[in-house]
Amino acid sequence: MYIEGANLRVPERTPETNVFWDAANEESLLYAKCSDCNKPHYYPRKVCPFCFSTSINFIKASGRANIYAFSLFSKGRPPYISAWVMLEEGVAIITNIIDCESDMLKIGTPLQVVFSSVEGGQKVPVFTPRMVKKTKE
Ligand SMILES: [Zn+2]
Repeated sequence: MYIEGANLRVPERTPETNVFWDAANEESLLYAKCSDCNKPHYYPRKVCPFCFSTSINFIKASGRANIYAFSLFSKGRPPYISAWVMLEEGVAIITNIIDCESDMLKIGTPLQVVFSSVEGGQKVPVFTPRMVKKTKE
């Protein structure tokens, strides 16, 4: 089944998540890294969920990820794919996978972030399979 779009709700903005959503509107995917325990987390929060430190840096992710787990909701209207993906920076994200043939997906499929607009214009990060570029060495 070809999956064109995502099943997204308008995200709830809070003072804590405004930076994240503003960056998404500029097509940047942010995650956070704690400078005390060095662990990354997502969504970015102002307090580290692991050690409660407030020394948090927001970092722009490369946008490259791999499928960790996914489910096809073929009876969705429209059908969609919900997935856990692992960013190459080592952070897991729950998201949607769009613009792909569902039969082609498997655990480990390389993905690239893309941004999908929801009602009101907010952009939300979703993922699509990454094509391997064939370049001459
Ligand atoms: Zn920490």
